[in-house]
Amino acid sequence: MVEIKTDASIEAMREAGRVVAQALAAVQDKAAVGVSLRELDRAARAVLVASGAGSPFLDYRPDWAPTPFPAVVCTSVNDAIVHGIPDDYRLRDGDLVSVDCGAIRGGWVGDAAVSFTVGTARPEDVRLIRIAERALEAGIAAAVVGNRIGDIAHAVGRVCRTAGYGIPDGFGGHGVGRQMHEDPGVPNEGRPGRGMPLRHGMVLAIEPMVIASGSDWHYTADDGWTIRTTDGSRASHAEHTVAITDDGPRILTAL
Ligand code: MG
Ligand code: MG
Repeated sequence: MVEIKTDASIEAMREAGRVVAQALAAVQDKAAVGVSLRELDRAARAVLVASGAGSPFLDYRPDWAPTPFPAVVCTSVNDAIVHGIPDDYRLRDGDLVSVDCGAIRGGWVGDAAVSFTVGTARPEDVRLIRIAERALEAGIAAAVVGNRIGDIAHAVGRVCRTAGYGIPDGFGGHGVGRQMHEDPGVPNEGRPGRGMPLRHGMVLAIEPMVIASGSDWHYTADDGWTIRTTDGSRASHAEHTVAITDDGPRILTAL
């Protein structure tokens, strides 16, 4: 069931979203060669605590997960696509890092992700990151009343495929509200004009993921969480929580 949010609820969700944006900014600020993934998690935790926000990631345990998630951010480096667990790995020159963060404030959830390079960036990584961001922008532009879920999916997928990148199947966006994952699902590829009509008050996480080699193949690592590319090529992830309104899409997880 899709929950339609009131305008007051959307304002409250904006506050949760702002905390996510601040946490991601703090993580990106902290990230440098030699810094551990655990330190990135600590930087995000400090922002959540200072904002009086909780984490929808910490102790999250979906059906398929062997263990509760132990951190407030996912840190996915290089061939990791999503769901990487922050550990003692220290960032190296040229690493491509995707960080996904959530916050709960006033009972509402915000969910967003950003990808960036550390140290000397490889040009192909800069392009990969930029295309994921462009796909997100295209998805947001399609998140308007009168369109359908398939229009968002199509917009996202077209940008990724046109660039020659792979799209891991089985992963995508979702409704957001009092729960991190609500209906409807928002696939990263689809047919325009299909699926649920978009209405004022729907709040969606839109989150393109791209694989550099063009392959869609991925697997779950031994930790039961980290999703990696099968061929070892690099991946990038971008995400915003977006409210659909009669005045157009509103990004709730911007600074
Ligand atoms: Mg997320
Ligand atoms: Mg999400």
